[in-house]
Amino acid sequence: MPDLLTIAPLWYWVVMAALLGLALGSFFTVMAWRWPREESLSTPRSHCTGCGHVLGPHELVPVLSWAIQRGRCRGCGARVSARYPAIELATAALAAIPVATFGPTASGLAAALMAVALVPIVVIDLQHRLIPDVIVLPAAAVALALVIAADPGRWWQPVVAAAGAAGFLFLLWLFYPGGMGLGDVKLALLMGAVLGTAVIPALGIAFLTGSLLGVAMLLRHGSAARKMAVPFGPFLAVGALVALWWGPAMVGWYADRLG
Ligand SMILES: [Zn+2]
Repeated sequence: MPDLLTIAPLWYWVVMAALLGLALGSFFTVMAWRWPREESLSTPRSHCTGCGHVLGPHELVPVLSWAIQRGRCRGCGARVSARYPAIELATAALAAIPVATFGPTASGLAAALMAVALVPIVVIDLQHRLIPDVIVLPAAAVALALVIAADPGRWWQPVVAAAGAAGFLFLLWLFYPGGMGLGDVKLALLMGAVLGTAVIPALGIAFLTGSLLGVAMLLRHGSAARKMAVPFGPFLAVGALVALWWGPAMVGWYADRLG
């Protein structure tokens, strides 16, 4: 991959990533609504789900339109959920921060790709308890290619990490199918490709935070909590983001103790 810093300074790539993130976030809000309902992503045009008012170009600007209209539809005045600008801002931040941290490099782009893909994965998993193949599989393939391009001499490392993480969750799914879905197995593939050995602390954090919530629900709801289904994807996402920044340090700390 060419050195993008010779073309433009870092801040330029960070701003570009943020703008692209805003646009993608806007697309994700539409996708999170329509995809699980098997509606087309392109038609009908974006509209108020209350009154059918079709959004004009000036009403489609991420975050700004919502702020200027004070969170209301121009047609009927119905409240527009703050979830929309929140998803757009989160996507922008998750696109820009990895580029700012790791630079506009192949590994920086792989990190940004994973972080951005986690947004629709978490939103759709929370709402519908599924992780769409159409997001997670292409993201895993492209991320793997980027990470291999960043360090072709050690191409096998991300491959082993991706296969190992997905294989581990697949075994858990086989023996304890109630705990997670095959979508989580595919998400582990993406995480392993991007995180390498740091996927180990990422999975550890996911299981730890997931178990803590399980204990909290047992304390609050008693045995009824056993029947409450909680998606595992959001916990994997938390683990992935924590490990993206602190995972290598965690792995290094542990390796030092062993050595
Ligand atoms: Zn309306």
